[in-house]
This record gives sequence, structure tokens and C-alpha cells, in this order.
Amino acid sequence: MAFDKSIAAFEAAYKVIPGGVDSPVRAFNSVGGTPPFIEYGKGAYLYDIDGNRYIDYVQSWGPLIFGHCDEDIESAVIETAKKGLSFGAPTMLETELAQEIVALFDTIDKIRFVSSGTEAVMSAIRLARGFTGKDDIVKFTGCYHGHSDSLLVQAGSGLATFGSPSSPGVPADLTKHTLLAKYNDIESVKKCFEDSTEGIACVIIEPIAGNMGLVPASEEFLQALRALCDAHGTLLIFDEVMSGFRASLTGAQGITTVKPDMVTLGKVIGAGMPVGAFGARKEIMAFLSPEGPVYQAGTLSGNPVAMAAGLASLRKLKKNPTLYVELGNKAKKLMDGFKKAAEAVNIPIVTDVRGSMFGFFFSDKPIKNFEEALHNDTKTFAKFHKGMLDKGIYLACSSFEAGFISTALTDEMIDETIKAAYEVLKEIRG
Ligand SMILES: *Cc1c(COP(=O)(O)O)cnc(C)c1O
Repeated sequence: MAFDKSIAAFEAAYKVIPGGVDSPVRAFNSVGGTPPFIEYGKGAYLYDIDGNRYIDYVQSWGPLIFGHCDEDIESAVIETAKKGLSFGAPTMLETELAQEIVALFDTIDKIRFVSSGTEAVMSAIRLARGFTGKDDIVKFTGCYHGHSDSLLVQAGSGLATFGSPSSPGVPADLTKHTLLAKYNDIESVKKCFEDSTEGIACVIIEPIAGNMGLVPASEEFLQALRALCDAHGTLLIFDEVMSGFRASLTGAQGITTVKPDMVTLGKVIGAGMPVGAFGARKEIMAFLSPEGPVYQAGTLSGNPVAMAAGLASLRKLKKNPTLYVELGNKAKKLMDGFKKAAEAVNIPIVTDVRGSMFGFFFSDKPIKNFEEALHNDTKTFAKFHKGMLDKGIYLACSSFEAGFISTALTDEMIDETIKAAYEVLKEIRG
């Protein structure tokens, strides 16, 4: 495959955009090389500016569950755009999308739309703090909740659970209220509750983590977390920005029996347009401005074109009751194929699937948390990624990312992908 035009495009971008990209993971830093620049997408395929075609397992990092240029979503967007791009005034589209979501999630009575997952989580946390009157929050190492200041934390020095900034530019004064726990480890959460003197407003978790590779929380862990939150008057937030409409129609909530107090959504909810949202039961949402005292706002929030895209996508998802079974079967078929291909050349691999999300680690041990995920063989992954890309298979460019199945993906495409995996892994083995 030739990448000449993409390499030149990356050099041009690099001169005017930091790192050549508008979001760091796109730069291919963890796998080496430079990223293909995309010309267009169609169904399950991506086409780059050198004319290469790829089977797309990234799907804009999750949103495109119907693949690229789905006709229904495309026409909803075009028709809505013709009426104006933004008004800064209420439209019925916002109510319609809100009604669809409220009808779907028994944990959501009211919902507020914003323009990204970052914004959704940041606002949800402010609301949780306002509602409980407490400042501290708990997050799990390896879970990603967007790039707002108080969530860019890493474990501090010493034994305390209080976080320190994971990025320059974030004041330690902001992260000292964020306590860090270990995923799937309830003792570490108990320690956070012991360490917090001010009280904990909320525990935020990706109930199916997709930002340290695919690492689901166990049912017992989520139940224990719920009990602990209840005992302390702490709100439990499920960040379903990725897993929402992906793991099942209602995300992780279609899989676990545990009910969160608040839910954040994004990605699929906008079908490729910038949308995020956070919702909860009535009493909590009543604390939000202008109904209540907790301030939150957005010039482009509930943008009509974005709402139309989300609405068209959600109605399509609701129409097909067996959709997630079909997507899940495809994900399983793909992961079984990768597993056999790796085992055929004695490369250790672990795989997992939740609905249309899949994940694999080159690892000889199962992975339950970020500390364990760090031991995956990233060198083998980088070689695998490059080999697959050269064969027209577009996988996430980091071993700490989940993969996605779209309805446009056919069994033949999966067979082609597995065949490529056999060839690439054999080459890696040498
Ligand atoms: C992607 C993601 C976010 C951030 O969403 P953006 O739209 O990128 O700001 C937050 N939480 C989770 C779980 C995500 O996967």
C-alpha cells in the first residue's frame, strides 16, 4: 500500500496543528508511523487520500454503529441542515430525542444535551457535587471520562488515594478532590471512603471500560459499589459515553442489574455529530440551571442537526430487536478468529466482547484492571496494527482501546480480517 499523500498531508498538518492532529490518539504515537488521512467513508469501509480502502473497526471511536453514510441518518441531517444550522433557541428535536432516551432508560427522568462526552461528564460531576453538597469524587485508574481538569489525575505519591495531576496545566488544587481506586477492586474503593474527610459526592465508573482496552466490571463489584455508595449518600455515575447504545441498546444497564444514580452518554447518541448528554432521576436534575442552582450552559447544546442525526440513529436502533445479538455474534466471530490465529503461532492473547464492542490483549493472563492491562505486549500489538493496516484492516492505533462492529460489517469482511490476522501474526512469529 502507498501512503505518500497521507505522509505529506501529515507533514503539512504538523506545521499548523500541534502533533498534526486535533486529538492525540490519532497521531499513531503508540504504534509508530503516521496516520492515513481520510477522504471518505462508505458503509463499513474507510478510504484514504492515497486511494487505500480499509475495513473500519474504529468507527470514529464508537459513534458510527450504522457505519459511514447511513442513508437514513444522512437524509435526516441534510433535511435538518436546510432549515438552519443553529438557533440558540429550543427546537422540538431536542424534546423528541430526550423522550426517546427517557423511555429507554429507567434511570433517566430528565436529560440535558451538551456537545461532547467531556462536557457531559464534567457537568454531571458538578451536578453531583451541587446535589450532595460534597466536594470529593472517586474515579478508577484506567477509566477515561474526558479531559476536564479534575479528571486528568494519576495516583499521587504515598499510600493515600488522593490523585495528582496527570497533565501540566492542571492545578493540584483541583485534583486533590479526586480519589483514585482500582477497577474491579472494592477494597480500594473502601479506602477512598476512609481517606475522604469531606465526603464523596460521586463515584464515577465506566461500567464496561473501553478506554484501557475492553475491561468489563464484574457484577459483584458493581453491586458492592452500589451498596457502598448507598451507605455513604454518594451518587453512582455510570459513564456510558462509549458503552451506551453499544454494549446493548441501554449500554451496560442492559447487562447488569445495578442501577446508577446518574448516566452520561455520548458517541452513538450523536451518530457522528457532536453530542453528549447527562441524565438522572427528577430530584437530581431539578438541581440543574435554570430549574435549580447548579450552573451549566452551551451555545450549541442540543444543536438541531446533531439532534436529528441522533434521533434517526436511535429510532433505527430501536426498530430492530435482534440487532445487538447480531452485532455481538459478529464481534464473537472476529475475536474467536483472532484467538485461533494467535494460538496457531503460540502468541498469547485474551479477548472479550460486550455487544458491538470487542477487545483483545496480547497477554497470557486475563485482565481485570489497568495495572494488569499495562502488562500487555504493546510491541506485538504495534506490529500487528501495522501489518493489519497494510492489509486494509483499520484497527484502533493503541492496545488500550476497544474496537467496534457496525451493522454494515458483513461476515465476508470478518473472514477477510481473520485471514489477514493469520498472515500478520505468522509474520510476527517469523
Ligand atoms: C470518549 C469518552 C469520553 C469523552 O468524550 P468526548 O466526546 O471525546 O469528549 C468520556 N467518557 C468515556 C467513557 C468515553 O469513552
